[in-house]
Amino acid sequence: MKTEIIRINDLSAQNGDLARAADIIRGGGLVAFPTETVYGLGGNATDDGAAKKIYAAKGRPSDNPLIIHIADPADADRYAAVNDTYRRLAKAFMPGPLTVILPRRETIPKSVTGGLESVAVRCPSHPVAHRLIELAGVPIAAPSANLSGKPSPTVAEHVIQDLSGRVDMILDGGPSEIGLESTIVKVDGDDEVTLLRPGGITYDALCMVVGTVHIAPAVTHALAENERPLSPGMKYRHYAPSVPVVLLRGEPEATLAFLMRAQDREKCAILCYFEETAYLKPERLFPVGARGDLAAQAHTLFRNLRAADRTDAEIIYAHLPPENGLGLALYNRMIRAAAHTVRDIP
Ligand code: AMP
Ligand code: MG
Repeated sequence: MKTEIIRINDLSAQNGDLARAADIIRGGGLVAFPTETVYGLGGNATDDGAAKKIYAAKGRPSDNPLIIHIADPADADRYAAVNDTYRRLAKAFMPGPLTVILPRRETIPKSVTGGLESVAVRCPSHPVAHRLIELAGVPIAAPSANLSGKPSPTVAEHVIQDLSGRVDMILDGGPSEIGLESTIVKVDGDDEVTLLRPGGITYDALCMVVGTVHIAPAVTHALAENERPLSPGMKYRHYAPSVPVVLLRGEPEATLAFLMRAQDREKCAILCYFEETAYLKPERLFPVGARGDLAAQAHTLFRNLRAADRTDAEIIYAHLPPENGLGLALYNRMIRAAAHTVRDIP
């Protein structure tokens, strides 16, 4: 398949390009597109065949459900049984990086939901994503636009690396602002949700709108052998580079000293803070942002993991992020990339 790549520089002047992308979606084809979280791989969410093409293009197991993307939060009603908790979440956080899991209506085929009776709904804020969904006139099922097991793509170049020749079109809208996938919550009942995946909408922000917010154990801990995850995606080893990732926990000076020694001793890649760059050798060094700048660290995480993985490093070191605020989303992604390997630096 020949993949057409279109750079979107001026959305208002490129309505024709977006209209063609929307035609591809309506016709059952696949279009990768930018969102504020990461790039998505889109197909018509009401079309069983399009869903199957998405799973095939990504090499994704077909029991790992897709998120459906809508242009207006009020449209959720056509595809899912909404309640007051959804409406409050939508009012507070949509359009934006929040996905809400609700009971599925028949308009969404089971192939999209991985066989589940629930469906995940999101309304992205990125102008290109928004226009594409609007013009398509159908909800767009879109997982992250990476090959299964690779880090989610945050620039079009990653999508091209993973999916060129496997999709009809890639829309290049520049780097994704947030850089981590959406926050996912499951509505449990009236005024009660469970956080399944942390993201740009933080736990604290959710608590301002919903009375009870549970955190699924798999957000911060490895699932035991016999444990059933609340979300199918939790059971897959995600976002993992091909060499081991080790997360370091310790005081700033001690951790920096460890990294300096590591560079002399082994072929390592390091995801370091800006403040540390002056003390470390530049080979295989990937500055992630200032120590306290979690937004920058989230924005650059997947790009840095991909880049570190492309070096000849035999091990990747990174700092263990805090578990509060946006840190929880970073923590959740990094602990998985590291297969829960944390090293304490005395
Ligand atoms: P991705 O779009 O690649 O970030 O993956 C979407 C994630 O959303 C998957 O890993 C799923 O586990 C989760 N998800 C989607 N739909 C549902 C659902 N109906 N119930 C639970 N989790 C879901
Ligand atoms: Mg994904």
